[in-house]
Amino acid sequence: MHVAVVGGGIVGVASAYELAARGVDVTLFERGSLGAGSTDRALGGIRAQFSTRVNVELSVASINVWDAFEERFGVDIDRRHTGYLFCTRDPETADAFAEQVAMQNECGVASRTVSPEEAAELCPGLRAEEFVAGTYCPDDSFADPHLALQGYARAARGEGAEIRTNTPVAGLRPRESGVRVELTDDPDGTVTVDAAVNAAGAWAPRLAETAGYDLPIVPHRRQTAVVEPERPVPESDPLVIDADTTAHFRPERDGRALVGGHFGGRDPVVDADRFSETPDTDWAVEAVERAGDAADYFGPETRLAGGWAGLYAVTPDHHAIVEESVPGVVTAAGFSGHGFQHAPATATIVAELVLDGESSTVDASGLGRERFEHGDGPVERNVA
Ligand SMILES: Cc1cc2nc3c(=O)[nH]c(=O)nc-3n(C[C@H](O)[C@H](O)[C@H](O)COP(=O)(O)OP(=O)(O)OC[C@H]3O[C@@H](n4cnc5c(N)ncnc54)[C@H](O)[C@@H]3O)c2cc1C
Repeated sequence: MHVAVVGGGIVGVASAYELAARGVDVTLFERGSLGAGSTDRALGGIRAQFSTRVNVELSVASINVWDAFEERFGVDIDRRHTGYLFCTRDPETADAFAEQVAMQNECGVASRTVSPEEAAELCPGLRAEEFVAGTYCPDDSFADPHLALQGYARAARGEGAEIRTNTPVAGLRPRESGVRVELTDDPDGTVTVDAAVNAAGAWAPRLAETAGYDLPIVPHRRQTAVVEPERPVPESDPLVIDADTTAHFRPERDGRALVGGHFGGRDPVVDADRFSETPDTDWAVEAVERAGDAADYFGPETRLAGGWAGLYAVTPDHHAIVEESVPGVVTAAGFSGHGFQHAPATATIVAELVLDGESSTVDASGLGRERFEHGDGPVERNVA
């Protein structure tokens, strides 16, 4: 069996690996270089603290892979187990936190609610007096997305997958039997495969159109600032998310921090091929101020030391679309802000959908796009 994977981000490359490891002949097509889409712009966060069961299940299955990654693939992905700490000032959100923790615990996740005092023990700079409650999971972590992507790529090649970079795909044309892959730079160069995977991230809707289906996925710009805080952020601090403002920060090396968040109502859909990849100065100033509302590391002497902007590929309910969309074409896209961490489980589901027609690792039946026809499914709330 020959399968074409389109997209050399973490989802496509991990899928190429899982397929090749099951004996499939895989060719991956990436229009630029591996990771050049959203993957190399991710913060690398890996957490199980989601608000919906399916996202928690994707996390649990993925974390099993991340935990074994170094041993399995021989690659150090700079994983740091600092935990994630969510905090809120709002009693209603605190109640929702308690419900989420109960559901996460049912799924085997070691998250717990914490009082402001306990939260301050975890993050000494936290303005604990601001908050009424928090949740913490010690097993949440972060890793280097680029190293992880390279690890998967090496493993995929080791299993015999062919990875073709600088090779844009112009279209996927399902045929009675198999799928024709049309290559942009080579009008005569088409490849016919038995099945194809649309893992083109924020660009997946365009590819879907060529195959005759629609994907409700839109690109939104998200920014990260690298800052030198007035007071160094200890490397042992968790990744802190102020759930009321979406401001979040995590320790880097040498007291620096990465700060993110999305503020204000304006959140236009952007052109995925034409957006600014550097953070806006006014956004960065606000991000530092909001982080400063949550923790006293970020006083007036805090310096901006850089940053970047990338794309979230967003669906209406902040869950990915993972399904066989039309016969022979499996889609895995629309991961909002959690595609890096969910790539291992997603890749397994993709391989199962291609080979078995249904997934068994995680029940992915709710991740098909027909859910939007009913419009009453769960919405992921823990997005930053
Ligand atoms: C600022 C920021 C912070 C983030 N932080 C986190 C985090 O902490 N944790 C987390 O889990 N996620 C995070 N994310 C989200 C994460 O980056 C994405 O969900 C994830 O990278 C999606 O991977 P992907 O493989 O689906 O897409 P991508 O990495 O975008 O890969 C898609 C690839 O397809 C290629 N492509 C598109 N069209 C074609 C075509 N026609 N032919 C060939 N190739 C094509 C593109 O060039 C691209 O390389 C963050 C994102 C941003 C922007």
